Amino acid sequence: MKFSHPAADIYLPDTSVTPAAALARTTHLCVAAHQDDIEIMAYHGIAECFGQTDKWFSGVVVTNGAGSPRSGIYGKYTDEQMQTVRFQEQRKAALVGEYSIQLQLAHPSSAVKDRGNTAVHSDLLAIFTAANAEVVYLHQPADKHDTHIGVLAHSLAALRQLPAERRPKRVLGCEVWRDLDWMIDSDKQVLDAGRFPNLAMALVGVFDSQITGGKRYDLATAGRRVAHATYHTSHATDQYQGISWAMDLTPLVHNPELSLAEYALGYVDRLKQDIAARLAKFA
Ligand SMILES: [Zn+2]
Repeated sequence: MKFSHPAADIYLPDTSVTPAAALARTTHLCVAAHQDDIEIMAYHGIAECFGQTDKWFSGVVVTNGAGSPRSGIYGKYTDEQMQTVRFQEQRKAALVGEYSIQLQLAHPSSAVKDRGNTAVHSDLLAIFTAANAEVVYLHQPADKHDTHIGVLAHSLAALRQLPAERRPKRVLGCEVWRDLDWMIDSDKQVLDAGRFPNLAMALVGVFDSQITGGKRYDLATAGRRVAHATYHTSHATDQYQGISWAMDLTPLVHNPELSLAEYALGYVDRLKQDIAARLAKFA
């Protein structure tokens, strides 16, 4: 298995299989921009596969983690040293979460934001083809981080190139930099993120270099999931201990004519109609 960037990293928590076999047995696959995004956005998939023999989670981080903030014990690290730390942290998460394989493609952010970049595209197409996953977790289109949207756009373009019978059954746009609580309830894909709460904390907690500067992603991620579960319905008791919302992106993969922007803005239109209809009742 070879990827376009020489610094690309292939990590197998379970060394009894080859990288190709680890990818081929993948049922749940997440493609994210940065180290730690997977553990924030796709915990549902990790938990779904944890301790199972017939379900395997795999993670792909597309960028190299360059330019990340550093403080505390990392304060004097060069950008290269910091990239190494971030690669190591992602490997730790893959080990804790018992992923089938962890791929870090090491592309600079600029390549990801370039829609025509063929290196990013060919890596992702090769991964989607080899993994043939049932469920794919991507960034959601209302995210406010350009690199996340870049990874989403490249992923969607690659998925659309797969022959119809090899496309995933379910493709989900997941929360990182902007949650999806604003979507109307009937648009929400409910992902149970409340199982194994200790595992969930550990998975985000290993990214010490990101948390140490005071950004408590571990607490914030857990808090967001609990808040979603509690505020899901006003009358029912909480069915889940934690929820992640997702946007269903499957129609975009199966219909290449569908515009990502138009599709995403359809969710915003439905929110607008929902607010207008409720206020109209009291006008
Ligand atoms: Zn990110």
